[in-house]
Amino acid sequence: MKYWRQPLDKHRFQVPHGIIHVIEERCKGCGFCVEFCPKEVFVMSKRTNSKGYHPPEITDSSLCADCGLCALLCPDFAIYVESSDMPAKDNGQAE
Ligand code: SF4
Ligand code: SF4
Repeated sequence: MKYWRQPLDKHRFQVPHGIIHVIEERCKGCGFCVEFCPKEVFVMSKRTNSKGYHPPEITDSSLCADCGLCALLCPDFAIYVESSDMPAKDNGQAE
């Protein structure tokens, strides 16, 4: 999800950071997490789990903004996110 401009008061806020955990054996490869993460943290991996599905792979965990959307959307409860004290890395996308 890309926006054409940044918020004018962006410098006033620190974007939270999340630590992502993927339980690969639960994944059924639906791709919701890849499609809907606003920070584009996931891609589908080429690996397969024991069920034969491709679990997501984390491209850059420092981008995670701890929004929790992936954990909320995953139909198999295969993702959870812990809050971290570190700020998320800015990848040029608006929140
Ligand atoms: S918590 Fe939000 S930003 Fe972090 S990986 Fe999940 S959907 Fe992406
Ligand atoms: S949303 Fe859950 S089940 Fe779907 S690909 Fe992501 S981790 Fe796997």
